[in-house]
Amino acid sequence: MSTPGAEPSIFSRIVAREIPATIVAETDRVIAFNDIAPKAPVHVIVATKTEHYRNVVELAAGDPGLLAELVSVAERVAAEHAGGEFRLVFNTGESAGQTIFHVHAHVLGGRFKEGSLGSH
Ligand code: 5GP
Repeated sequence: MSTPGAEPSIFSRIVAREIPATIVAETDRVIAFNDIAPKAPVHVIVATKTEHYRNVVELAAGDPGLLAELVSVAERVAAEHAGGEFRLVFNTGESAGQTIFHVHAHVLGGRFKEGSLGSH
């Protein structure tokens, strides 16, 4: 969980429209916007509006319905922007590449090199 009294995360500031972002989908509880440093032809961040959960493990344990909603928004974004086929990546922990501890998924779409895992 996020630390009480801590500064709002970058993603909370996007939710509050304090930081500009290209928002591509939104529900009452989930927001999707283009990644500022795309690593695939389509690279969209899908985040819960709350920063209560630091990662997908906490979210799955604490609010599985919200995780399902996040996945459903990811599917919709991929249908609209990536022909319906996509990778859904949840970096979990610093050594795995997580830099923002406000649960979010990366929707990665477009052409990948055959057999590649991370890069395109
Ligand atoms: P993580 O590394 O935590 O899994 O993912 C964080 C992602 O957020 C990175 O891909 C990074 O490019 C993206 N990001 C960081 N700051 C901003 C920002 O201010 N705006 C947007 N749109 N994306 C950001």
